[in-house]
Formats: sequence, C-alpha cells, structure tokens
Amino acid sequence: MVDLKENIQFIKGVGPARVKLLNKLNIFTLEDIITYFPRDYEDRGIYKKINELNVGDIACFKAVAISKPTVARIKKNMTITKVIVRDETGSALLTWFNQDYVKNQIYGAEEYTFYGKVQKKIGDRVEISAPIFDKEGENKNTGKIIPLYPLTNGMTQNVIRGIIENALKLCDNSFEDFLPDWILKEYDICNLSFAINNIHFPEESKDFLKARKRVAFQELLILQLGLLNLKERGKIEDIGISFDKNENIEEFLNTLPFKLTNAQMRAWNEIKKDMESNKAMNRLVQGDVGSGKTIVACMAMYKAVKNGYQASMMAPTAILATQHYENISKLLEPFGIKCALFTSALTKKQKEQLLQQLKNGEIDIAIGTHALIEENIEFKNVGLVITDEQHRFGVRQRSKLSSKGEKVDTLVMTATPIPRTLALILYGDLDISIIDELPPGRQKIDTYAVKKNMENRINDFIRKEIKSGRQAYIVCPLVEESDLSDLKSVEAMFEHYKNVFPDLKVEFLHGKMKNKEKDEIMSTFKDGKIDILISTTVIEVGVDVPNATLMIVENAERFGLAQLHQLRGRVGRGKYKSYCILKYDSNSDIVKQRMNIMQETNDGFVISEEDLKLRGPGDFFGTMQHGVPEFKVANLFTDMDILKEAQECSKKLLANDPLLKMPENAGIKAKIADLFSEKLEL
Ligand code: ADP
Ligand code: MG
Repeated sequence: MVDLKENIQFIKGVGPARVKLLNKLNIFTLEDIITYFPRDYEDRGIYKKINELNVGDIACFKAVAISKPTVARIKKNMTITKVIVRDETGSALLTWFNQDYVKNQIYGAEEYTFYGKVQKKIGDRVEISAPIFDKEGENKNTGKIIPLYPLTNGMTQNVIRGIIENALKLCDNSFEDFLPDWILKEYDICNLSFAINNIHFPEESKDFLKARKRVAFQELLILQLGLLNLKERGKIEDIGISFDKNENIEEFLNTLPFKLTNAQMRAWNEIKKDMESNKAMNRLVQGDVGSGKTIVACMAMYKAVKNGYQASMMAPTAILATQHYENISKLLEPFGIKCALFTSALTKKQKEQLLQQLKNGEIDIAIGTHALIEENIEFKNVGLVITDEQHRFGVRQRSKLSSKGEKVDTLVMTATPIPRTLALILYGDLDISIIDELPPGRQKIDTYAVKKNMENRINDFIRKEIKSGRQAYIVCPLVEESDLSDLKSVEAMFEHYKNVFPDLKVEFLHGKMKNKEKDEIMSTFKDGKIDILISTTVIEVGVDVPNATLMIVENAERFGLAQLHQLRGRVGRGKYKSYCILKYDSNSDIVKQRMNIMQETNDGFVISEEDLKLRGPGDFFGTMQHGVPEFKVANLFTDMDILKEAQECSKKLLANDPLLKMPENAGIKAKIADLFSEKLEL
C-alpha cells in the first residue's frame, strides 16, 4: 500500500519545476494531490453525427480527415490551418489560427474524435474553430467528462490532469476506507476508492454524483463530529469558575418595570446552571430582535459581579455599545456595580484612567466595541464575557475576548435566527438557548411591500406620521453612487428627500462616516431632533429609538430577508403603532414571494427558513459575514439533505462510541484530529 504522505516528487511526470508549481497550490503530498478536487467539469461525452450539429452546439463527433491539413499565412502574424473531415452524414470545415503543428497531428484518411463549438452551418457542412481532438481509440481529451482544476500561472489543465492520473495509478485503489461499513450501507455512500477516482474522472454523471455525495458527506460528518466532540470534551476538561448559587437575583428583577417572559426565564436558567457548574460556559443565546436578550445578559453580569468577578460585554458598533452602557449602568449602578464604556472615542487620558481602574478592579463591568480586545486591556479577574450580535464577529475575536481571563464563562448573543440544522454546524461547539417569545403587549409591525409608483402615497404617509410627532428611518442599500447607479446612494437619497420634505429635519448616516459623526447623528435622532434619518444598514443592529415608528426600505429586493427582518426590528420599540414599508423595483416572482413572506410573518425563524429556500447559494451566508466553515466540496446551502444525514449519522456514532475509542472509528478520529489541528482555531 502506498503512503499517502509521500512527497509529490515521486509521482511520474513531476520534476522540480512542477513540484514548485504544485506547492504554490498548497499541494505537497500524494494525499494533497488526490484530494485536489476539480472546480468544474466539462462534459465532452456527448456524441453527435455531423448533420445533427447546429450552430452553437458544443459536442463530440467522429470523422475522417479527407486529406492532410493545409496551412496558409493570412496576415503577417497569422496563419490558418484548415482541414475538411466527414462522417457518413456530412462534412465539417475545421480551422485553427496560429497552430501550425496541427498539420502534423492529423493524417488523411484516418479517423479522429473532435470536440468543439459549431460556428456556422451551410447545408450539411458545419464550420468549427479550434476543435480539440484525439486519435481514434485514444480519448485523452474527448469523449468523456473532463475535470477542470483551479490553476496557477504556468500550470495547465492538461498537465495537472496528467499528474492526477499518474497519482491515482500510483495509489492503485488501495485507499483504506475510514468510514465503517454500516455508514456506507445506511446512508447509501460509495466507498472511498470509487469516490476518489470518480470525483476526478467520472465515466458518467451518475458516478460523479455518487462520488460527490460521498466526499460532501464525509466533510460534513467530520466537521460535525469534531464540533460535537469539542463540546463534550469541553464539558469534561475545561474546569471553569463555579459561581455561587446565592446571589439574590430577585433583588435585581424587582427593580425592573416588567416581568421576564417564560422564554427569557428559560434562557436565564440555562445560563445560571452553566455558570454554577464547574465547566466553562460556552453558550449562544438566539432571540429575535426585541426579544429581550440584553436583560438576560445583564442578569448574568449581575451574578458574576456579585460573586466577586468582573464581566465584559462587546458589541459591534459604537452606537450599540454606548446604548448598552447607558441601559446597563442605569440598571446595575443602584447595586453598587460600576460600569465603564470602552470605545475608540476615548481620549488618551480617559483611556489610561479606565485601563488602570479595570486592572485594579474598580470597574466591575467593561462594555465596549473591538476596543475591548486590544492588547493593553487587562482585567483584574474577569469571569464572564459576552459578545452581542455574534454574527458580526469572527470566531477569533470571540475567543480573543475570552482569553482576557482564565477559563471564563462565555455567552454570545445573536438576533440572526438560524435554522437548527445550520446552527449545529456553525455553532456546533456552543450550547444554544433560544428566546422564542416577545414580551407581551408588543404591537405587530404592519408591513407593506409596494412598488415605485406608490411613492407619493408613501410620502404622504411619512408626513402624516411625523406631523403626529413620530420619526422615520429610510434605509437604502449602498454607500456611494457606483456602477449600479440605479440604486440610490444615501447622499442622493438625502437630496431627494430634502426636496420632498423641505419643512422637515432630514439627516443621513452611513458606514463611511467617522464614528464620532455617526454617534452624534444617532443621539440627535434619539433625542427627537431629527424627523427622518436616511441611512445604510449601519442602523441594522440593536439601536433603540422608541419614538421611531416608520421603517422605509428602498430597493428592498436587494436585501436578504433576515436582514429586512432585523431592519424592521428597529421600529415598534415603543408604545406607538409602527410600520415597515418595503419599496421594491422588480417584476420577478421570487422577489414577490419574498416580499409576501415579509408581509405575512413576524417570526424570524420562519423568515430565515424561507430565506434559505428562496435565495441562491452564498447569499444567505453573505449577510452573516463570518464564521462559516470552508469545505472542498460540500456546500451548506445546496447540500442541506446531506448535512441532515451527516448530523443524524454523527449522533448515532457518538451514541455508540462517545469518545470514538472503538477500532472501527479510529480512521474517523484521525481525520477529525487532522481537520482541527490545522484549520479550526477554537
Ligand atoms: P434584543 O433581544 O433585540 O437585544 P432588547 O434586550 O434590546 O432586545 O429588548 C428590547 C426592549 O424590550 C427593551 O426596551 C427592553 O427593556 C424591553 N424588554 C425586555 N424584556 C422585557 C419583558 N420581559 N417585558 C417587557 N419589556 C421587555
Ligand atoms: Mg440586542
């Protein structure tokens, strides 16, 4: 059996120059090259007769050359090689520019297989430029499905294909399958040798699909098992802080003007249990916008501080961090808990003072932006770290905050509702609490999807709301005028609305402004001194202005549903009836369906499921920005069915063999170790 860790230089056809090129592609070992999968395939396996070929067809046909090709010079730097070939149904004129060598590769009266795109057809004669061809019986480049690999400068498809062919020959199907037999049977998975051979060189597309399924399945299975294993191991190994049981949370709850919802209570109890146990907490709290995650976070911080520890909470924007600071300090300072705000807006002197107080323990709770993970931030004894709007941060930032203390408890919060299956693979290392209930008395936000021609009526409506004392947001998709000039930019939109409402106070806000400017505008809006705030999605996260009752979204078709739902959550935060108006400019059915979903439901989970179904691959995750694992073959989006099978399979495996100690699972265990030591920084 060959050693898959063998250097690629032992493969036939790989000399020092090619070793260098392959290294550039991150290919070092035999294993690397046989798992260097095609990025695409070209099906050169469709045969036609010449008279069946039509202009635009791309196909193979067998034909005999009437005579040797001729070469003619047509311009100073250009030659043309021509040959006429025929089969029993017609003839074809084949031409190549500047490829004189073709004349020595085609002989009269011999048969070849040609593959190319038909340019012209006159009667039974077709014309094809630069077809690819093979001698009869050779079929190197034609007559089959051809893999296309990602390349680097100096490497060609033919060369890498040849190398992979040789590598596979060297391996001679001696792959040891690391998946136990029962898995192959139960999930209808082909064996590893078949998969590897057919993902490179499938005879037929059904073989390719089988091979692809196997590879996607194993990628998803290994990642899922690894994440679950990590979680279990964390529970055993990571001895964390055991917070005391007897802080008096009632004392805190009694000062709130409301009662917790059942869902908040449930999440709290899960957090409390984690905090009191001696394992380090790693918990995600998922809850729709407005479901009241902040209070729950506050309770956890209260508990941590009452136990003599510090706590910290990180938010993605200065606006949001400031808002958290204001709310939380109001709630906790009556209990002698000192909060401080860390953003980049601090002066050097202020910052130095705060750093000092944080280090000596005068500050109990540090709230802030990324500023909290800077090198010079030191705590006296932080015991709990919280990340708000987790989807805006990467795994690395999350763990950086946690590394400010020893074995701290970690809580992450997100308002992006993610279907359970996906959450398991995106946040597989976290325990999940879901707050699936809004506080009572919340009014439904009426949502209307309208087309451009309703503009005047909408403007009248905006004016009416503002005259009765309310405020409005208008959100548009882009920051600057760009090639997509049909999309109005924030500034152009600002000019537009200033003209429409000359008597109202209109302002704008976008991500490219300085933080200080943004904060100023936001707080002026909060104080009610701006009627209409035009903005990009920077206001998407967490900001609370109860007097704002109107959310208008321009070009709503350009947003993901989950994102629209977040935007909608900016209104309806006070006692007034609120509205969301989605202006869209499209006749597509999909757009209409998506707008309908927004009109019909306020449930973030339903919306995200639908969003997943309706949007193209990648878009859904595009709005989540971070933390999506990379696969060679699997696609979380299109392979949802395979993901579900892999998840079911990982549960079964672990139920039988929780620590993967059985010999039949040794191969799987090794794969997990491979993946996690190199790729996942957790
Ligand atoms: P999110 O989950 O979007 O972060 P917040 O924590 O900002 O939501 O809460 C939204 C609003 O609801 C806040 O004004 C908060 O004070 C209020 N709130 C939270 N929990 C309750 C509750 N149980 N009953 C009534 N209002 C609540
Ligand atoms: Mg929030």
